[in-house]
Amino acid sequence: MNIITEINDLLEIRKHFQNKSVGFVPTMGNLHEGHLSLCKKSMDENDITVLSVFINPTQFNNNEDLNNYPKTLSEDVEKLKNLQIDYIFAPNEHQLYPDKFEIQIIETHLSKTLEGEHRPGHFSGMLTIVMKLFNLIQPTRAYFGEKDYQQLLLVRKLVSSLFIPVEIIACETIRNKDGLALSSRNNKLTMEQLFVANKFSELLKSHLSDAEVEDQLKKLGFEVEYITKKWHRRLGAVRLGNTRLIDNIQLEV
Ligand code: AMP
Repeated sequence: MNIITEINDLLEIRKHFQNKSVGFVPTMGNLHEGHLSLCKKSMDENDITVLSVFINPTQFNNNEDLNNYPKTLSEDVEKLKNLQIDYIFAPNEHQLYPDKFEIQIIETHLSKTLEGEHRPGHFSGMLTIVMKLFNLIQPTRAYFGEKDYQQLLLVRKLVSSLFIPVEIIACETIRNKDGLALSSRNNKLTMEQLFVANKFSELLKSHLSDAEVEDQLKKLGFEVEYITKKWHRRLGAVRLGNTRLIDNIQLEV
């Protein structure tokens, strides 16, 4: 396994990727089984897999959230060594934003609802960094989790609108035994909050109406940002204390 931190090194190494399929897994680190499932899928489907670890400041609409985001590169590297992944790309902010974010990708429709409404600017930051990483790595396939469903739809739209030659592969959400979607943010929950957090997916899956789900969540102590049905899914965003959780489940058709 090779850890690349410099763009120039990446460009040099990329010369050896010719005629090989390259799978790419973008992450913000603090890896869990959800991230690792994307890696495993990529390793099954490609000759080479590159995973990036970059806490992208431009997609945080809140400085406190950015500062609190878990930074665990050495533990992440150990997990990826066990998996025998080929490359980790872990550049710094200065390298990825020589323009200081003066060039941005802005989507004007899909990005304005749900997550976009509650996290203004989030999707411009996300789309811009994904575009930069695609240009640098030039993957054959890129792997995204269905957990961030709106993000997945926006990345697909980015690729089809800008004719980027990469296949986007959607990966199912990995959950703990009680159904809670794995997330780096779960580490911030206290034991009591974790117990309550498990109810989030249970209620999303229930046959209750969106309003009833919202009501039940509030009774359990969640602050609810939205619970809604869209794209044949029920999606939700909630807060428990300072921790924000999102999830979605596919609806039966
Ligand atoms: P993040 O590091 O949170 O930006 O996530 C990196 C990628 O992993 C994104 O494509 C996420 O959708 C995906 N991901 C995060 N959590 C999970 C999960 N529990 N199951 C599957 N994929 C996930």
